[in-house]
Amino acid sequence: MDPVVVVGAGPVGLTAALLLACRGLEVLVVDKHVEPYPLPRAVHVDDEVFRVLQAAGVADEVLARSRPFAGLRLLDRAHRVLAEFRRRPEAGINGWPHGSFVHQPDLEAVLAAAAAAAPGITVTRGVEVTGLTQDDDGVSVVVRDGGAERSVRAAAVLGCDGAGSTVRELIGASMRELGPADRWLVLDVRSPTPLPVWPGAHQICDSRRPATFMPVTGDRYRWECRMALGETVADVTTPDRLAALLAPVDPAAVEIVRAVEYTFRAQVADHWRAGRVLLAGDAAHLSPPFVGQGMGLGLRDVHQLVWKLAAVLAGEAGDDLLDSYQAEREPHARALIGVALLLGRLMTRGGRAGDVLRRGVLAVVRRIPAVARLATDSRTPPLARGPQVERRGRAGRRLAGTLVPQPDVVVDGRRCRFDDALDRVLDGAAGAELALVRPRELTLRAAGPDRPLLGVQDVDGVLTRWLRDASASAVRIRPDRIVRAGIPRRRGTDWMIRNCRRVVSDAALAQAGAVSRDRRTTSTSRSSTSAGCGAIRHSQP
Ligand SMILES: Cc1cc2nc3c(=O)[nH]c(=O)nc-3n(C[C@H](O)[C@H](O)[C@H](O)COP(=O)(O)OP(=O)(O)OC[C@H]3O[C@@H](n4cnc5c(N)ncnc54)[C@H](O)[C@@H]3O)c2cc1C
Repeated sequence: MDPVVVVGAGPVGLTAALLLACRGLEVLVVDKHVEPYPLPRAVHVDDEVFRVLQAAGVADEVLARSRPFAGLRLLDRAHRVLAEFRRRPEAGINGWPHGSFVHQPDLEAVLAAAAAAAPGITVTRGVEVTGLTQDDDGVSVVVRDGGAERSVRAAAVLGCDGAGSTVRELIGASMRELGPADRWLVLDVRSPTPLPVWPGAHQICDSRRPATFMPVTGDRYRWECRMALGETVADVTTPDRLAALLAPVDPAAVEIVRAVEYTFRAQVADHWRAGRVLLAGDAAHLSPPFVGQGMGLGLRDVHQLVWKLAAVLAGEAGDDLLDSYQAEREPHARALIGVALLLGRLMTRGGRAGDVLRRGVLAVVRRIPAVARLATDSRTPPLARGPQVERRGRAGRRLAGTLVPQPDVVVDGRRCRFDDALDRVLDGAAGAELALVRPRELTLRAAGPDRPLLGVQDVDGVLTRWLRDASASAVRIRPDRIVRAGIPRRRGTDWMIRNCRRVVSDAALAQAGAVSRDRRTTSTSRSSTSAGCGAIRHSQP
């Protein structure tokens, strides 16, 4: 089979390549630039997105280069705290910290190194895609390589070529505006001595000069502020203006790495697919950075696309499976872009009156536990109902379209992350079933005949509680860890429970139980960490 051609070696394209290679596909990544983009853009990654990095096999390395995200502080013009919404630094329901700060070039370096080491991935830089034609067997991609044009055959093409996407243009798609564009100054700073700052995101709710500040990683810090109509970067970086923006930090005591203007846009492409050519990441949508989700949306895109594309290319599913890609991803992307727009408006609009109102409202709402939970919860909206998301009945409504939690579990006597256990049974299958046998004892089985059952010891009871709270006895899980269907407690699982009882009574679970008991006195290390699906598959007996 011809390779899948990924256009763009940014974070989304490289992640797509790793996920495709995990599924045994040959991948050619092309990027028009000889070197990766050296300057930082994204600084925040949430725990759901970390699961995508885990599937790509790079999460532990990215985590080692990240800083825990303490939460969000809303400040007034004089930098007095109006409200604070904390995020706990320890791993949450997804098995990773709720939020982390990263330096985008570090993340891209980790992804590029993994792609260079992965069998089946070729990354070619200095090659620009300029044309595409499709026929019944695939796609011909025209590339400009060292001044000459040549054609490359592809089984499919992923346009991960960023905001100014050529692939988007070539498939005749265009961006729709979801909100007004905003010009912001982005200022990246390094400090030789650590700045004494709270390790979270600070939002200065000043309608005249809204700004944000974040300690990123190591000695890196980021300030952003909105630019007024007609203002230039030089206007907003005069010594006085810089001193006001960075206060109480002395601008003379730090190194300004760059000060640049960005136009933050809220846009979504009108169509994300033409035949075997698909868009992902900034090529498909652009988000203002208020909730730090632009890149995260792109990583979710490719995680939810790659298993579908692999199934279609293997002849296991028809092309119509690819129709569900935009149908699922666009509403989710729109929802998060909408939150970013709303948050931006709430925090920064309304003039003087808005500032006064904000102070009063925030003083009250920050004390309401439900609001604090909402502000600190990193969970994003569930996917809407569709052919791959069956939201019927109570169990379906509560669970379908959400991510299955990722606690630590014990399998075959060894502690591991739940996704690693899932990859063990999936092994290329289109989905798996997780069924509750007894409290804290579950089984996992890939969809399809003659697939072995795996006993799963839910040592901390997370999965048991999660199923019980939704009145479910089992769930069907897609390869991207999203619940396809919740199976209610009252019906349909007798056969599964019979089979499960047989399996859980065997040596595997007995051994798991022994290890689980041992954990109370000794510590048991994980059998594998964020090894990625390919590595998990290789590690199977
Ligand atoms: C100031 C700022 C702050 C941000 N903060 C956050 C944040 O905190 N969290 C977050 O999740 N996101 C954030 N984002 C958004 C995030 O940076 C982007 O969403 C992300 O970089 C998009 O990745 P991508 O791979 O889709 O595109 P890109 O990173 O733009 O990569 C596209 C690649 O395609 C290549 N290319 C383009 N055209 C062609 C062609 N014709 N042929 C071959 N190659 C081509 C380019 O050279 C490039 O390498 C922020 C963005 C900005 C600007």
